Amino acid sequence: MKQVSATNRNKKQVGTFAALMLLMLCGAFNFLFSQEIVTVPNTESRISDYIKFLASDSLEGRFPGTPGIEKAANFIEQHFRNTGLIPFNSSYRQELPVRTGLKLTGKNAVSFEFLIEKLGIPKEQLKPSHKSWETGTDWQPINITDNGSVTGEVVFCGFGITAKDIKYDDYEGIDVKGKIVIVLTDSSENKPQKHFLAEYFDIITKVKNARDHGAAAVVLVKMQSDSANTFYATNFLGSEKQNGLIVIQANRTSIAKFFPRSEAMYILELEINKKKAHKNLLLPNTKMTISVELTDDIRKTCNIIGMVKGSDATLSDENIVVGAHYDHIGWGEVNTNYKGRQKMIHNGADDNASGVAGLMEMASRIKQNPLKRSVIFAAFTGEELGILGSNYYINNPPAPLDKTVFMLNFDMIGRMKDNTLNVFGTNSSVSFPAMMDSISVLDSVKIIKAMETIAPSDNASFYVKQIPVLFFFTGVHTDYHRPSDDWEKINSNGEAKVLRVAETTLRMIGNAPLKPLYQAPQPSETTTYQPPATPGGGSGAWFGIVPNFEGTPLGFKIAGTSPGSPAEKAGLKANDIITHFGDKEIKSLGELSAAIKEYKPGDVVKVIVLRGKEYSDKKTFEVKLERKSK
Ligand SMILES: [Zn+2]
Repeated sequence: MKQVSATNRNKKQVGTFAALMLLMLCGAFNFLFSQEIVTVPNTESRISDYIKFLASDSLEGRFPGTPGIEKAANFIEQHFRNTGLIPFNSSYRQELPVRTGLKLTGKNAVSFEFLIEKLGIPKEQLKPSHKSWETGTDWQPINITDNGSVTGEVVFCGFGITAKDIKYDDYEGIDVKGKIVIVLTDSSENKPQKHFLAEYFDIITKVKNARDHGAAAVVLVKMQSDSANTFYATNFLGSEKQNGLIVIQANRTSIAKFFPRSEAMYILELEINKKKAHKNLLLPNTKMTISVELTDDIRKTCNIIGMVKGSDATLSDENIVVGAHYDHIGWGEVNTNYKGRQKMIHNGADDNASGVAGLMEMASRIKQNPLKRSVIFAAFTGEELGILGSNYYINNPPAPLDKTVFMLNFDMIGRMKDNTLNVFGTNSSVSFPAMMDSISVLDSVKIIKAMETIAPSDNASFYVKQIPVLFFFTGVHTDYHRPSDDWEKINSNGEAKVLRVAETTLRMIGNAPLKPLYQAPQPSETTTYQPPATPGGGSGAWFGIVPNFEGTPLGFKIAGTSPGSPAEKAGLKANDIITHFGDKEIKSLGELSAAIKEYKPGDVVKVIVLRGKEYSDKKTFEVKLERKSK
């Protein structure tokens, strides 16, 4: 047999592949031209009504485990019922527990024992006075605190800074070992730029400095400002523990009462600012006891799921999932970009009431005119906490996951600009790029294909299970994760267009003779769409890991690294568990992307991972971040 040379064989393979593509395309084109673009009347008013309700103040930003999200769940469930979707296990609700943060147990208390000096009475004859503080009024624990109890003398240590380069040290001449240290901090909403110590104001650094000086606990107190008595969000420093250190915040007025009149706290602060020199003080005759206990705040929540059975005897055995998350961040509980003093409802009109409205509208349309394949409509919870709802779905699928041939995700489709729709995941199947191109020919919407498949929303949960996905997204805006993401700013005409494209896409895939073929991430993966950096954070730094959503309390597990990425170059591997990114402890995707946003391309960051048997090996990598290639 004549040896067939390598080149000939490749030519052959390419030949067969091209023929196959041609066949598929002809099939698709033939199928395509049978598709018409459907415009459904009154779509705009229907979706506006849905969004107005879901983003109304009475739903309080739909945070998991709150009455607000329960109202949203009832609303969606009622729509599924009225539309006639089929529930699984005779319920539209798939319940799941989620960790929403940390909460205080009953063992949180602060009290003082102190002497009030009286003229002419020797100290040893003075009877100690006692005072207990009210939790949430006089003080609150901060999430980075360790649990435990400590009693000790109290030392005021100015701004808690040791800056050798400017020969400034708030710990000079005082021993704080085993003591409780009071440290002044800035008020988050207005960083004092002009302060001579401004560049040393990072609070985590101050906490670590106190720990390194042997303090047993740190009491954060805001410097003199209008918001000196308002509390930080308990999770504003993340939740990385500080090796046994107890960390609380005190109300400024409450703690000031324990300073001697002659050396009042604001006097000491003024003196430091005036003389640009440290001033620390052991509070006389005062002992403080702090007990802190925070536990995971696990709350019940649910995905809302219903199905429209397919019309074809064979193809109805396969299903398509249409998804949109219906949770949001409540009063700014997590990942808020809002720095205001007063807590405010984050209405989440675009993120993601718009997607849920799209989901509800698609359910009605597909129910009226079913596809050959079955379609499952899923409103996911817990997306803002790390795509927890969709992750739970893929690990507890109501319908066999190997029958799920495609997932379409709506997340922020309500703020179309320039008639443009961004579609992520187009390279998760070989046929998608051509399909989207053909739709954009037929429809007037400008479709931008983002080759990225692992865009940070619920589609990622399905893609890691080798299911082709598309994620519709109209772009980031300055109201992202702010209270100002309100229904009045929704472009319902734009969303109606998005849904037109969505319906065409669903009908094409749902009625096609062949299911879309899954495609793994391509090494040459490039993106034609670069979402603008989130206002107030982020700089386009690229790290390049593939998330794995198998929950682990140890940190955040990765399914691998993107080809040619900084993470790959540094040596990270599939199944590594990332525990630290820089100085941030990492427990979820959300925390990792927030940590990455703190860095710029070119920055070198320390990444700690666990791997090996029982994850007993701890490895530290120096990762040089890059800019995402255009
Ligand atoms: Zn979202």
